[in-house]
Amino acid sequence: PQGGLFTVLEESASNYPDAIAVMDSEREFTYAQLRLAVETFSSALYKRGFRKGDRMAIMLPNSIEYIISYFTILRLGGVICQVNPMYQPMELEYILKDSDATWFISEKEQQQKLNGVGDVKDQIYIISADQKSEDEDDLYRWLEEDNENIPPTVIDPMEDVALLQYTGGTTGRSKGVMLTHANLFINVHQAASFQKDYIDIPGERSLGLSPLFHIAGIVGLNSSILNGGTYIAIRRFRVDQALETIRKYRPTIFPGVPTIFLALLRHPRLKQDDLSSLKFCACGTAPLSIETFREFQSKTDAQIYETFGMSETLITHRSPVGVEIKEGSVGIPLPNTDAKIVDLATGLTEMPVGEPGELIIKGPQVMKGYWKNEDETKNALRDGWMYTGDIATMDEEGYFFIVGRKKDMIIAGGYNIYPTEIEEVLYRHPAISEVCIYGVPDAYRGETVKAAIVLRDGHEATREEITDWCNQYLARYKVPRLIEFKTELPKTAVGKILRRQLIKEEKARMD
Ligand code: ATP
Ligand code: MG
Repeated sequence: PQGGLFTVLEESASNYPDAIAVMDSEREFTYAQLRLAVETFSSALYKRGFRKGDRMAIMLPNSIEYIISYFTILRLGGVICQVNPMYQPMELEYILKDSDATWFISEKEQQQKLNGVGDVKDQIYIISADQKSEDEDDLYRWLEEDNENIPPTVIDPMEDVALLQYTGGTTGRSKGVMLTHANLFINVHQAASFQKDYIDIPGERSLGLSPLFHIAGIVGLNSSILNGGTYIAIRRFRVDQALETIRKYRPTIFPGVPTIFLALLRHPRLKQDDLSSLKFCACGTAPLSIETFREFQSKTDAQIYETFGMSETLITHRSPVGVEIKEGSVGIPLPNTDAKIVDLATGLTEMPVGEPGELIIKGPQVMKGYWKNEDETKNALRDGWMYTGDIATMDEEGYFFIVGRKKDMIIAGGYNIYPTEIEEVLYRHPAISEVCIYGVPDAYRGETVKAAIVLRDGHEATREEITDWCNQYLARYKVPRLIEFKTELPKTAVGKILRRQLIKEEKARMD
């Protein structure tokens, strides 16, 4: 498409002008209104010098302002640099410097953080996105200016970068991933093709809880707009509010992550029909335990479809809709997506069915490369295959199962141990709410297995009981030697359990 990803909005705005495109707790915009806001904001930005290839950092929560900014930058051929609104000045400085952003949009309150970012601030045009701000440079004031009908910028979808997506920072410092218009445009169609028979166009309501500064959120937004659906933007995840929103707006589509599904399930006031409006729950970004999957099915009338994806590849796998779900599997590759399991050491030989190896992926949704990081790009992209760093298996029917990350694999006494397998066993224990397994240095065995455990409210369990439980289901070498009870586990911004942080704490204690 010549206009790139922006055409997704343009088409729905022509087809369903009066349908509600986006809403938050205060307002709603129809497709026609959203398109007009995007055109007007484009015109205001263009007038102030914004041009194709310019980088704008968006530091906004899930909101109508985010969505207007997103489509405006796409329309003008700019590059969106994703910034988590919870970031503190040091983290913000890293992204601003790394991305070479020269434009910045956030709520007024966040702008104080720019005082702590050093010199980069001098090269940046700052825009606020508040309904109440008195600023000259405010999105809402600009929306009152004349729309000068600047046409959408012509872009080269295969080459032009639409999104600079920073990775989750789960295993280390986050890297900027260059995603082109074609990557995003094709991926939203690939994902839609999997569920098209189950979607009412227009008419679906998506629960926009997954942060838009992450690809899980972005793909959810793109899908909703493509289908002419209504995207319900939720600023910040709080389980009480999420439940309230679900009861009130009866969303039909919910792209979520395991910790959110778990939090909803464990909510003391969750009732069977609370989630009955949901037709399609996608779950990705981290392993979903079989226990959570089953509990969700038994306590609600909804179904979770697992999805696999990463910043570098967008969505690549999904449980097919309309056939029985294979528990524990992330499903099969999307159309036009190739996936293979190769040996961990060289990455060259394909593994036999059922044997674990590194998951590699090829397809039109695979990134152009890491921004300003040729070494990492060469390492990750070989012959067009993305080396995911995830260990997986494939069964005889072509379903994929994620075993864990290469970096998380524990080597204890010469055995390869995958944390997820042990976590699965512990999640079945009735007293356990959350768990993380990781390796800690051990003079004799190299590493030893440790479990950090959060118990369910009102439940008790001793270390001995937990060890006995593990001994029933796991070979002795996998059973955690060390167990620590905690009141909560550290998590990343998208709710992934931060194993790296637990390991760091452990090392600090040992020194
Ligand atoms: P970083 O690369 O900075 O360490 P990250 O890998 O967590 O962070 P993302 O790109 O957001 O950042 O996440 C992609 C990763 O999430 C995958 O490589 C995989 O490890 C994990 N993941 C995604 N979906 C699933 C899933 N359904 N099951 C298990 N793991 C998943
Ligand atoms: Mg990663």
